[in-house]
Amino acid sequence: MLERVLIANRGEIALRILRACRELGIETVAVHSKADRELKHVRLADQAVCIGPPPSAQSYLNIPAIISVAEVTNADAIHPGYGFLSENADFAEQVEKSGFVFIGPRAETIRIMGDKVAAKHQMKRSGVPTVPGSEGAIPEDPDEILRIARDIGYPVIVKASAGGGGRGMRVVHNEEVLLSSIQVTQSEAMAAFGSPVVYIEKFLQRPRHVEVQVLADGQGGAVYLGDRDCSLQRRHQKVIEEAPAPGIGERQRTEIGEACVRACLDIGYRGAGTFEFLYEDGGFYFIEMNTRVQVEHPVTEMITGVDIVREQLLIASGEKLSLRQEDINFSGHSIECRINAEDPRNFMPSPGKINTFHAPGGPGVRVDSHIYSGYTVPPHYDSLIGKLITHGDTRESALAKMRQALDELIVEGIRTNAALHRELVVDPSFMAGGVSIHYLESKLEHER
Ligand code: ADP
Repeated sequence: MLERVLIANRGEIALRILRACRELGIETVAVHSKADRELKHVRLADQAVCIGPPPSAQSYLNIPAIISVAEVTNADAIHPGYGFLSENADFAEQVEKSGFVFIGPRAETIRIMGDKVAAKHQMKRSGVPTVPGSEGAIPEDPDEILRIARDIGYPVIVKASAGGGGRGMRVVHNEEVLLSSIQVTQSEAMAAFGSPVVYIEKFLQRPRHVEVQVLADGQGGAVYLGDRDCSLQRRHQKVIEEAPAPGIGERQRTEIGEACVRACLDIGYRGAGTFEFLYEDGGFYFIEMNTRVQVEHPVTEMITGVDIVREQLLIASGEKLSLRQEDINFSGHSIECRINAEDPRNFMPSPGKINTFHAPGGPGVRVDSHIYSGYTVPPHYDSLIGKLITHGDTRESALAKMRQALDELIVEGIRTNAALHRELVVDPSFMAGGVSIHYLESKLEHER
């Protein structure tokens, strides 16, 4: 078993990791920036070390500083959380080369999944359904490109293989502009990601975002923990997530889950991971794999009873997965609202001091948050200040609990997006379930 874990992150996920470590009797080392001395997990950790000034580039992304702290504190593993260095293959490699366990997959796996052409190719080989498109990077011959796009049918989307964060993509509606759009995307991709490789695929017009959570031990054991629907998004940022995804039948859930497990075994996947799909007209289309724990992991925990972060720690300790697929039962429904320190109308960040914080409670209510009364939200980082998660026997009951939880939530001193959530949980289309990834933005556009 691991003895001491360095938590290379901040905010709610750092606290989540600390809690899981404590339960397993693992000591924790917090690393933090100068702006983050007051973070809850920094106060609770067995050891805390300041690694640099507030900007992330000089602290949470400072690889040598983080590895030095692991050395001086004699940690045996590093948990990267999500964001920051969590999907940085070079970091994973340096961590392992320095003699520490990286709590996540092997660097090589992260590298493959960070290259969309390679990832898609791998998925096809394992029988995971992908979006129809060019087989790998587009060819050089313009006639060949035009033929591929004609076969796929317009609209198509040109995507940078090295792209990320919703950048490096361009939708093309007709043949006249295809070649010029490809050229522009190639040069943008070169400038932004250092690689001009692009590929094309069918542009799905009204898809949902449905993803599958997996756990694998890298020793031949792998399970899927069902799916999540994360279609309510604004600017590619998820706002509300739920599990299971509404309207997906048991047979299809099993099929897609088994395909993901097969892919994990084929690539020797290790740790927690998520297969992201677009879901349209009853079909799943793989878009990317996230090789880390995700913000929305709690909704899966609520319906399966599996503690995903604990499993990450056990896998990193070298243990074989004790869970078998037949042990995993899906029970009820869970919803998560991401609470951000931002103006609910114009979405401007709203950092500052929280004078009063009152967390909701009651059966089926979970709050994953690092904030407390008197805490000051620094302006330097992501605006997520907590997650409100509910669980009920049915989707309706999880929603009813969420309405109550949002009514009880009090955050004073800064603005939060709680008002937006209060609107969304009574929105008839969201209540019906299964809205597309464009629903929230078009709703905001029409109402404001
Ligand atoms: P990133 O790594 O930048 O997040 P993804 O491949 O996950 O890139 O795509 C990000 C988003 O772009 C998706 O969530 C979806 O909204 C949109 N998108 C990507 N591919 C397609 C497609 N083939 N059809 C429609 N929308 C797409």
